[in-house]
Amino acid sequence: MKIIVLPGDGIGPETVAVATASLEAVDARFRLGLDLQPDVAGHDSLRQYGTTVRPELLDRVKAADGLILGPMSTYDFKDESRGEINPSKYFRKNLDLFANIRPARTYEGSGSRYGKLDLVVVRENTEGFYADRNIESGGSEMLITPDVVVSLRRITRPCCERIARAAFDLAMTRQRHVTVVHKANVLRLGDGMFIDSCQLVARDYPDVRVDEVIVDAMMAHVVRAPERYDVIVTTNMFGDILSDLTAELSGSLGMAASINSGTKYAMAQAAHGSAPDIAGQNIANPFSQVCSAGMLLTWYGQREGRENFIQAGHALDEAVAQAIAARESTRDMGGSLGTRQTGEALVARLRAY
Ligand code: ATP
Repeated sequence: MKIIVLPGDGIGPETVAVATASLEAVDARFRLGLDLQPDVAGHDSLRQYGTTVRPELLDRVKAADGLILGPMSTYDFKDESRGEINPSKYFRKNLDLFANIRPARTYEGSGSRYGKLDLVVVRENTEGFYADRNIESGGSEMLITPDVVVSLRRITRPCCERIARAAFDLAMTRQRHVTVVHKANVLRLGDGMFIDSCQLVARDYPDVRVDEVIVDAMMAHVVRAPERYDVIVTTNMFGDILSDLTAELSGSLGMAASINSGTKYAMAQAAHGSAPDIAGQNIANPFSQVCSAGMLLTWYGQREGRENFIQAGHALDEAVAQAIAARESTRDMGGSLGTRQTGEALVARLRAY
């Protein structure tokens, strides 16, 4: 399995280094035959090549079996004509990575202040309110006058149906419960179509329980009773916001793993940003990046029918859970180790598996 590794900006180089070391440890243990190929995107690429992401890099990624994208300074990249492309959007759009899968669970020993939870947010990734990806050319936010902005939101039936199918397929491997989160009381047409599509797909999954919750009420429900939820499917922006909340409920945003997948390609990417406030201080939690890499191995194992990859993905998750229970983690998860030392302890644990 050839994986392109892009360390990214901010805390990215620190956390991606831990993910890479963890992959090397499971590679040896499960005989995966990984070929990890480093490259650059984001600020490093802008400095070296005058653009945050080169077209040749997309070709390399397409020829590989997976991509690890470190966090990007998305907020810094404003002008595409100056090479400031949002790499995250670039790969999601060009590889048609329509499903952003963001799990959140609580861990023994992490001292989470909220109830136990084990859920997955399935977020549509290619349209919605995201001005940089929902029209073919240009952006979908317009300055009508100096004081008036119009932002367009695109919702299409095929995109609703494919994200619904991804959610129901996932639910079949879990507790068989899907919650559709929407704002159809206000966005009657767009979210109405989203709900209709989910209910249509639901007919193919008679064993899956389905309910619908309005997004603002969901913010309260998921804090009050997070144990009620299994798979949550929603449109792009709602999924982006809700998944930061569920990550924090699980203990820390530093646990927010995710994978972006389509029919052919997949990209592992922590759900949080580049965290410039803590970059370079050896305090960032690397587990979001490690578990994202584990999700990539599992995705590949399922696609290729390779059980050892699925086992390796599971081993990474298990080792992270054991490390948290043993307080071999960064401070946000109740430990006292630095990023590097957390990685060293995790690798030692994985080697002893
Ligand atoms: P960006 O502009 O790249 O989105 P941001 O700081 O606005 O960066 P995040 O990077 O998502 O947004 O960070 C939000 C908060 O969560 C910050 O206080 C950050 O320090 C914290 N945080 C994010 N990732 C981690 C991590 N891996 N470990 C510990 N804290 C984190």
